[in-house]
Amino acid sequence: MERPAIIRKTAADLRVPPNLADYAATRQAFGWNVAQAELAGLPGGGLNIAHEAVERHAHGARSDHVAFRFLGEMAPQDVSYGELSRLTNRFANVLRSLGVGKGERLFVLSGRIPALYIAVLGSFKNGTVVSPLFSAFGPEPIATRLNLGEGAVLVTTELLYRRKVEKIRGELPTLRHVLLASEDGQPTDVPGTLDLATLMAAASDDFAIVPTAAEDMSLLHFTSGTTGTPKGAIHVHGAVATHWSTGKYALDLHAEDIYWCTADPGWVTGTSYGIIAPLLHGVTSIVDAAEFDAERWYRILAEEKVSVWYTAPTAIRMLMKAGAEIARKHTYPHLRFIASVGEPLNPEAVWWGKEVLGLPIHDNWWQTETGGIMIANTPAFDIKPGSMGRPLPGIEAAIVKKDAEGKVSPVDTADTEGELALKAGWPSMLRGYLHNEERYKKCFAGDWYLSGDLAKRDADGYFWFVGRADDVIKSAGHLIGPFEVESALMEHPAVAEAGVIGKPDETVGEVVKAFVSLKKGFEASDALRLELLGHARKKLGAAVAPKEIDFLPTLPRTRSGKIMRRLLKARELGLPEGDTSTLESS
Ligand code: ATP
Ligand code: MG
Repeated sequence: MERPAIIRKTAADLRVPPNLADYAATRQAFGWNVAQAELAGLPGGGLNIAHEAVERHAHGARSDHVAFRFLGEMAPQDVSYGELSRLTNRFANVLRSLGVGKGERLFVLSGRIPALYIAVLGSFKNGTVVSPLFSAFGPEPIATRLNLGEGAVLVTTELLYRRKVEKIRGELPTLRHVLLASEDGQPTDVPGTLDLATLMAAASDDFAIVPTAAEDMSLLHFTSGTTGTPKGAIHVHGAVATHWSTGKYALDLHAEDIYWCTADPGWVTGTSYGIIAPLLHGVTSIVDAAEFDAERWYRILAEEKVSVWYTAPTAIRMLMKAGAEIARKHTYPHLRFIASVGEPLNPEAVWWGKEVLGLPIHDNWWQTETGGIMIANTPAFDIKPGSMGRPLPGIEAAIVKKDAEGKVSPVDTADTEGELALKAGWPSMLRGYLHNEERYKKCFAGDWYLSGDLAKRDADGYFWFVGRADDVIKSAGHLIGPFEVESALMEHPAVAEAGVIGKPDETVGEVVKAFVSLKKGFEASDALRLELLGHARKKLGAAVAPKEIDFLPTLPRTRSGKIMRRLLKARELGLPEGDTSTLESS
């Protein structure tokens, strides 16, 4: 297949009129006050995520529309907006009856089961702050986060409690209540805990939302820990304006969509776009409790008639690794838009989407700190594979440089590498790192929020990811972004994924070293290593191409699916591994 540098979109590519049809005009007309005016607001004044996400629909025409369709081992379980309203009211009443109030912190530790979603939304109603954890966390990362966040309540399952929390319960001084969701439908009976279903059954399904203001804290989200110890980012109820406008423009949600966000709510994507944004738009969300499985995923896309799919590069790479034949067992006539976030999306993956699923993958960029999507490829945009897209309405992004006095200013010339920065003040911007004011202050310079990522902007206003500031390789006077090298390696048919690091070298500063895992049907060998070295040299030139390649069965990843280059480097150099609380154990 021909692979031009731009995938041009025509009217035939758009199955529904896109919400962002005229980029320039919409950006110009946009103001956050406009987005805020599209929200309902609390009846007595104030703003609450759950009111916007659930109540608005529950008391309107969409009351019977399915909000969540939960898939798991049992038959699918549908929950309508009306039911979601009643269930979350019950949960809010449970919190109130336990004396848990506004501003207190509730942690959730569970798989993607209904109780998690009900607890998150019910907490918002009670003004209680939510902090989601990955269910696969071990006792130590759970204790660290719970203590840092002064968790008063933990919602989890009997199994997870017994395995991970029971033995550290004495080390969690702020934790007053543990609510257990039963795995088998039978009431749980574990000392020191309460059975959630019993409390829910006794609670009223009427609840008046505790008035929250736009600046009241809603969520405490820990970062992925890709570059170091995870940071606790503070978010507010007012962030809902960003969730609303990005659900509209970046994900192009329309009321009749069947939407599937594959991210776990333990990661910010799974909350902002797995819970909040789809509900705001009144769509039906698919939630699958099972872990990744290529056959299962294709079946879900086909059988559930998914129309909008939001996933991550790591998942796409795993699907690519599994081979296209599995995909071809089904057809996907309902699928109209695919988006991805979390890591650079290699051009190879964008094309793979087009070839195998009939749609290119649309990359977008954001961070735990930004609370929502900032830069995106939307359905109407032409795609430049390898680019993250353009800033959304309401977002001003720039490449900035620091001068000798430390003053930060935007660079106007196209294609210049520098730090990616955003004009501060969008509604879902973090309001602090919990108990780390110093680190938070470092995120800002003048009007700008500094992302810590390096990027460039081309003459058409598209942004291109270069690398994280910490990962950039300095070799013989060149600055090399690992993404560029990884993408070139991935163009070789044998390569499933690649992670690239700089390895200290006396002569050139750092040499480029690549770690590669292979697709099904390929074997590691010296001959293949030489072939890959040659392939990379041809694509990248000798100065940028890796000098060394090692084969690994899989690359170390965070639970949110990001390649942990710092770990590849530490292991290569025999250095301490640092914080590995978010490392996925495979
Ligand atoms: P930590 O801050 O703890 O090291 P993290 O930065 O990986 O972890 P997240 O907030 O989950 O935690 O991830 C945001 C980062 O992910 C971005 O700063 C960027 O480096 C990377 N990222 C996200 N989306 C993209 C994308 N589309 N292209 C390239 N990189 C991306
Ligand atoms: Mg980060």
